[in-house]
Amino acid sequence: MENLNYKEEIEKATSEVILENLRIKYLGRKGIINKLFEEIKTLPKEKRREKGQKINEIKKEIETLIDRKKKELKKIKKEEFFDSTLPGKSYPKGSLHPLTYVIEEIVNIFQKIGFIRVSYPEVEWEYFSFEALNMPKGHPARDDFETFFIEAKEHQKFGKMILSPHTSSGQNREMQRVKPPIRMINIAKTYRPNWDATHTPMFHQFEGLCIDKDINITHLKGTIDYFVKEFFGKERTIRLRPAHFQFTEPSFEIDVSCGICLGKGEVDGKKCRVCKSGWLELAGAGMVHPNVLKMGGIDPKVYTGWAFGFGPERCMMMREEMKIDDIRILYNGDIRFLEQF
Ligand SMILES: [Zn+2]
Repeated sequence: MENLNYKEEIEKATSEVILENLRIKYLGRKGIINKLFEEIKTLPKEKRREKGQKINEIKKEIETLIDRKKKELKKIKKEEFFDSTLPGKSYPKGSLHPLTYVIEEIVNIFQKIGFIRVSYPEVEWEYFSFEALNMPKGHPARDDFETFFIEAKEHQKFGKMILSPHTSSGQNREMQRVKPPIRMINIAKTYRPNWDATHTPMFHQFEGLCIDKDINITHLKGTIDYFVKEFFGKERTIRLRPAHFQFTEPSFEIDVSCGICLGKGEVDGKKCRVCKSGWLELAGAGMVHPNVLKMGGIDPKVYTGWAFGFGPERCMMMREEMKIDDIRILYNGDIRFLEQF
């Protein structure tokens, strides 16, 4: 009896089948324990009781050990079990910001007609944002561009360090970088210290600049018309209205025909709910001022050019016919808004 090996055997069992076989071996009807009980009958009467108790203890111990081992094996099995038929967990997928898509699209439209995308500093010198654009120091036009000034040492020639308030700062830099012909598209972040329902301190602009011999307003109009048809749809048209900017002469505001009423200003005899007049303000543009060309090292007697400045945010909202009460929603990271694109 002492050489029974059940403890070790149960401990080494690696499956429930092995464990069941051990149970039969020891506790089954023809098992070892029953055989031991049988043997008691051959013992003298006075020893039977003591022997019987001992066998019972062993029987209980085997039962307990098997039970414990069974639980242990079940637990391991549960942990290891992999059900390949269950559907996988889906994790939320990120995507690009809707405005990033719009910017890529705009760049593609202009690249098709030979414009090259460039990138110029967002942290800029006053000179490139103002002086080089025909707005000398103290000129009142500078007030229109509310500006973030950076606490840094002033540059002897270029003045204070600022956050570029418009992409037009790239005009002079591009003229310094390449000789005409120039076909530049400059899309960048721009900064002005405004924070309300229609302004964010950081927004985007894209600037087109075309300089070559014999460039005139018809090229400007044709290019913008091409862009509007590609971006907003073939049925859309543009119109130029006279305006004033310090760095273009003559200057224009560009309107695009409304996508709802197609320029009529009314739908079924009622005033259009989107435009009221048939047109929506889109951008500013004009022929590059001769002073700006000169400051860029280009002879205005030989070359002419035009420039325009658009807001991608405005383009996007106009195309999607989005009525956004508060433009700040574009940048506050609200997933419920962003997921719609
Ligand atoms: Zn309309």
